[in-house]
Amino acid sequence: MAPDLQVGRPQVTPMLETTSETETSQAGEALGRELVAGDVVLLYGDLGAGKTAFVRGMARGVGANPDEVSSPTFTLVQEYTGASATLYHVDLYRLEPAEIGDLGLEDLVSGDGIVAIEWAERWSGRPDDAIDVRIEDAGEDQRRIRIERPR
Ligand code: ADP
Ligand code: MG
Repeated sequence: MAPDLQVGRPQVTPMLETTSETETSQAGEALGRELVAGDVVLLYGDLGAGKTAFVRGMARGVGANPDEVSSPTFTLVQEYTGASATLYHVDLYRLEPAEIGDLGLEDLVSGDGIVAIEWAERWSGRPDDAIDVRIEDAGEDQRRIRIERPR
């Protein structure tokens, strides 16, 4: 069997390069259009990488209002109503491990919404079938985005 056909091997999309926040949102929108209820998107990348910008695009892609997307502050889990599913947006950046435990992410990701989690490395419960989005700052307005989907 060819190595790239092995069961369980993550499928890696080519790296995208964006040069503006708008382009990063457009990448999120493209992903959002493909998502279905139950999908989980985990976002990794430093502060200012563009995770929230990507989620804003995802909101548009699922048919929700992108203007509602901001960095979650007091509301730990933001909900945006989409065309066929609700998008739940979580940012683990400022949370202590105990607070992350209290969020009930296991229930959220096994529900029938679409879930996007920023700073997902802070959560130990990563589902095997999650879609991973890694965003790297490549200087000035350049960002590198890699999207890994399970097969
Ligand atoms: P994060 O959620 O990863 O902390 P944000 O999406 O909140 O990041 O912020 C990204 C910041 O970087 C914004 O100020 C945005 O204008 C800026 N930026 C510059 N170039 C890009 C780009 N190519 N993609 C995304 N954001 C960019
Ligand atoms: Mg953010």
